[in-house]
Amino acid sequence: MELLLKNCAQVLTQDKTRNILKDTDILIKDGIIKELGKNLSTAGKIIDCKDKLVMPGLINTHNHLAMSLFKGYGDDMPLDRWLQEKIWPAEAKLDDGSVRYGTLFALMEMIKTGTTCFSDMYLSSGAVLSAARSTDIRGFVAYGMIDLGNPEKTESEIKEANLFLKNFKSDKTGLIRPMLGPHSPYTCSRDLLEKTKKLARKNNLQIHIHVSETQKEIDDSIKAKGMRPVEYLNDIGFLDKNTIMAHACHLSEDEIALIKKSGARISHNPTSNMKLATGGAMPLKELMDAKIPVGLGTDGSASNNSLDLMGEMKVCALLHKFADNDPETASAQTVLDLATIGGAKVLGLEDKIGSIEIGKQADIILIDLNDTTMIPDHNSVSNIVYSATGSCVDTTIVNGKILMENKILTTIDQKTVIEKVKEFASKI
Ligand SMILES: [Zn+2]
Repeated sequence: MELLLKNCAQVLTQDKTRNILKDTDILIKDGIIKELGKNLSTAGKIIDCKDKLVMPGLINTHNHLAMSLFKGYGDDMPLDRWLQEKIWPAEAKLDDGSVRYGTLFALMEMIKTGTTCFSDMYLSSGAVLSAARSTDIRGFVAYGMIDLGNPEKTESEIKEANLFLKNFKSDKTGLIRPMLGPHSPYTCSRDLLEKTKKLARKNNLQIHIHVSETQKEIDDSIKAKGMRPVEYLNDIGFLDKNTIMAHACHLSEDEIALIKKSGARISHNPTSNMKLATGGAMPLKELMDAKIPVGLGTDGSASNNSLDLMGEMKVCALLHKFADNDPETASAQTVLDLATIGGAKVLGLEDKIGSIEIGKQADIILIDLNDTTMIPDHNSVSNIVYSATGSCVDTTIVNGKILMENKILTTIDQKTVIEKVKEFASKI
């Protein structure tokens, strides 16, 4: 199947030289970017892009999709009280049906705001998987685990994780892939972490885990284990290139060196961190200087309230400029990199997505250049990061398939999802 993006006014390729092409056609065949150039033709569908900025789809490296049901439920609280008093009791009421529609609702928001790839960690992973598959978006579904030091729970979590992997039938598109998601070093025992790592290594899977989110977590870790969280994970042999750490706000110089040496990757979630007042900005500059892969994430709707990565890019840039007292840190280009090719590196997909280059998979979004946020056009990267919101996104394409065209979703029944979400949310 062919798709031709004709006369693209601008193409932010995000290739190695960050080349921006003007008045270019993009030919997509069977999900792959086949040609970039002028006067290309096709027998397939053509989209006129003369008023469009074309760029790689955004990549959200840390999420809990079904938490969209908890948006606005329990704001303005510290993380430990928020989890114990609001989120965990509410999650106890979830079932496969509510998780399915919460997931679809989140994916609806993501596709509308230009996200083409997500990395999720949650319960009822089977329901998350079937919901995600039905939308034809790209992503990772992690089986989320917590044992709180209870050995019986350790065994049952590992059993469930094995079952999740066994039942995970890869379809031929390979769009949705499995991961393992032990929640954090403070909610998972050493035994669970070690068994999860063993399972991940056996199946060549990535692990998605929260690490060093709050200052309290660091203090508690030193008290309980005599080590900071990253030192502890290194000590038990947990860190390698298949480890994706969400947050990593509090890192010592030694820990940054350990991350570098191990090849582990980081998902940065600036809005969630600022909203929960996690006690300091993630050391972005130091991580970038060390060439550690860093991607951008929103975290779940309960701790961000939005899944719009356009907004997240701006928050990211502002946070680091403010924290470092340096307007030159976290430039628009740096932040755009985090949300595209940086996220692809974190997820181990840099050969497939994250940029518009011949041979890569066609995960592409079209931005309306007549939107007020995109005018005037002195610098389109600046407009995307500092001015645009997700509502500028007109069309979203994943693997060459159109998931939204002219702001109309093609794979999600928006009306039904909204009705179901309102119904489930009223029962929380
Ligand atoms: Zn999270």
